[in-house]
Amino acid sequence: FNEVPTGHPVPGRTTVYDDSQTIDPDTVPLNGGFLVKTLVISIDPYIRGKMSWLYVIGQPISNYGVGVVLRSEDPAFKPGDHVYSGDFLCQEYIVVNSASKFRVLENKEKLPWSVYVGVCGMPGQTAHHAWREFAHAPKGKVAFVSSGAGPVGATVIQLAKQDGLKVIASAGSDEKVEFMKSIGADVAFNYKKEKTVDVLQREGPINIYWDNVGGETFEAALNAAATGARFIECGMISGYNGEAPYLVKNLMLIVVKELQVSGFVITSLHAKHLEDFYRDIPPAVARGEIKYLEERRFGLEHIGEALLDTLTGRIKGKGVIVVAQE
Ligand code: NDP
Repeated sequence: FNEVPTGHPVPGRTTVYDDSQTIDPDTVPLNGGFLVKTLVISIDPYIRGKMSWLYVIGQPISNYGVGVVLRSEDPAFKPGDHVYSGDFLCQEYIVVNSASKFRVLENKEKLPWSVYVGVCGMPGQTAHHAWREFAHAPKGKVAFVSSGAGPVGATVIQLAKQDGLKVIASAGSDEKVEFMKSIGADVAFNYKKEKTVDVLQREGPINIYWDNVGGETFEAALNAAATGARFIECGMISGYNGEAPYLVKNLMLIVVKELQVSGFVITSLHAKHLEDFYRDIPPAVARGEIKYLEERRFGLEHIGEALLDTLTGRIKGKGVIVVAQE
């Protein structure tokens, strides 16, 4: 991590790829911990947030990842185990001494490991946990999902369809619109070509709004909300990159329409929903009942560019950096 960005992160300036430091995986001291070879690193919008408050200049950035244990002095982890954590340093090898944040993945379904940072990882958990916690939607009701082609939104669309809802979904390209239709969205539109407010007026009123975007889209959803609608406030990516704050003009509709607005941070929902997630979702993905779109890029040197492309919509679906094959 090289510099705190003011707008979008700039590859090569905000982050730089540094191959000047090496370790010998055969001899690096473990001090009671274990050595992991990184296989995949997740690229998520919230990395941009961590650039403002968490990462330390000169230190490697970190995020969700999956790797394989090569050596271990920790009895809970053995060579060959595949581990998942949100604490993966963006390095080829990491020595782990804080094992509590690492989970051994069973992967009985033999899914590709990259899936465990997408639909079977944090983004899928976000969709699963918060949908189960907040949606409570009777069949036939109408849900609107913004950024419906991303890993969170795409999973939400499918959970909503499984619950029998009509789903309206938006994204920023025609290709993403086709993908959203292919996973069941009843109405999918390109918000760069059609105004969200017009589509929702035509297809609404909406009973649930799953918000990944905030700003003008949130404002449009308030206009189209039915009385008592639930707003699941998951993210507001329209403001992550230093954009001028969007002044939502109709907040009073929260009062008048008696809306239930629920914000959440995924880690707070794990205690209640995580084990159900691992029981239900990977098998559903393996059976093809939940589909996913993933764009893989190869090599740690592409992280900066992949993050920028995730934030600006150029990446299709879940962005993943493949660091090494097994
Ligand atoms: P997404 O794929 O949904 O996010 C990236 C996409 O956002 C881009 O590809 C782009 O797609 C879209 N986007 C970017 N800028 C805008 C804009 N101004 N207006 C509309 N769309 C825009 O990522 P995830 O599925 O990983 O995450 C979805 C949301 O959930 C994010 O806001 C994220 O921060 C949040 N989140 C929240 C968590 C929590 O605990 N509350 C946990 C995990 C994620 P397009 O081409 O469609 O414009």
